[in-house]
Amino acid sequence: MAHSIAPTLQFLGAARTVTGSRFLIETPRARVLVDCGLFQGLKELRLRNWDPLPVDPRSIDAVVLTHAHLDHSGYLPALVRDGFRGPAFSTENTAALCKIILPDSGRIQEEDAAYANRKGFSKHKPALPLYTEEDAMRALTTLRIQPFAAPFEVAPGITATFWRAGHILGAASLHLALADPPAETITISGDIGRAEHPVLCPPDPPAACETLLVESTHGTRIHEAEHDLEGLASAIVRTAERGGAVVIPAFSVDRTEVILLQLRRLTEAGRIPKLPVYADSPMALASLRLYQNAARDGDPEVRPELHGHPDAFDPGDLIEARNVEDSKAIHRAPLPAIIVSASGMATGGRVLHHLINRLPDPKNTVVLVGYQAEGTRGRALRDGAKALKIFGRYVPVRAEIVDTPGFSAHADAPELLAWTRRCPAPPQTTFVVHGELESALALETAIETELGWTAVVPSYGERVLLD
Ligand SMILES: [Zn+2]
Repeated sequence: MAHSIAPTLQFLGAARTVTGSRFLIETPRARVLVDCGLFQGLKELRLRNWDPLPVDPRSIDAVVLTHAHLDHSGYLPALVRDGFRGPAFSTENTAALCKIILPDSGRIQEEDAAYANRKGFSKHKPALPLYTEEDAMRALTTLRIQPFAAPFEVAPGITATFWRAGHILGAASLHLALADPPAETITISGDIGRAEHPVLCPPDPPAACETLLVESTHGTRIHEAEHDLEGLASAIVRTAERGGAVVIPAFSVDRTEVILLQLRRLTEAGRIPKLPVYADSPMALASLRLYQNAARDGDPEVRPELHGHPDAFDPGDLIEARNVEDSKAIHRAPLPAIIVSASGMATGGRVLHHLINRLPDPKNTVVLVGYQAEGTRGRALRDGAKALKIFGRYVPVRAEIVDTPGFSAHADAPELLAWTRRCPAPPQTTFVVHGELESALALETAIETELGWTAVVPSYGERVLLD
């Protein structure tokens, strides 16, 4: 009898944390990396971005990206710079978003390094960017578009299929079929969206598999979308009465569109006054075009009721800040006003300047509308920090802080379990990934007790046999 070597799966990130999504699958014939994400948040996590991979990037045959968020795609420029020469497969909208996000990521890293050098607050002399805009542009040339629901060959003996994940435009869950004996099937959830996402169609169920990887960002939380919509509306009303600014740090992709859509609906329903809304993030404006076009063209990822309605994201008085001068002008804008700016966890981007400007004044409000990872400024604000360190200085927090996690682009705990439950048959093993430990353990327990399946929370760097 021929001896076959079992394929392996190694968790190179998103294990007991939400960022750095990277899963390495190896067979005797091929080496494939599913997701190529950046670590974000806590410094000890961010430092992992500088660690070499356990395998030579040159030896990886292909990358498959589940979606464009940096914690899933943002390491690709470093991988390509370090020698990866294979294709990076993604859906069409993911590729379009990567073209917006990855060069911006390189630029921000260059700018942050330059700023740190100028101000001299980095411990590293000189501070270096993890990669540059040029590295990112080069990484884009490796992208290869594949449609949803159609199998394609990733590498010899490995076939993949994208299924809709309903998280952001282009987001997919991935089904992998390894052909060589012992044949194996793996489903990787990617990030699962909310069933009630106001723009995107709900996620497809998981494809039948022997090994399932499921994300657990919100493994402990229950989102109350209507409650949080009311929270946003009342915060805007209160702030308007005080004559202040509402600053909404929002992930450029998807959160900005959802916020703008909800602001339009709240204004139309008379629940908030009509205020000028500043969208201040070049990346958000570029992604807004993509969402507008997807709505206009009836993209099958977009909810049918938005087809033909690219104006759904215009709250009525939208002012787009295209360049740094436009952005600075917002500091002197007449109030009350709403400022939507990236990044969503206040880890970088133009929102930092708005926070420096608005946090010290109690008439202003900061509304947190998405997941806030450990170690980020957004998380510190959510947890009641009295001062926030930005660009080497402490900024006092006197503005009102409102947390509305129901705006998250991630399924909540019951939705994650409901998605998992739809797997056509119990997998042999379900790995709970992409969640902080408490969250991952909660979903693991729910899967074990409510579904009776074997569930495991893998650790960083752990390698398992698939057979
Ligand atoms: Zn994501």
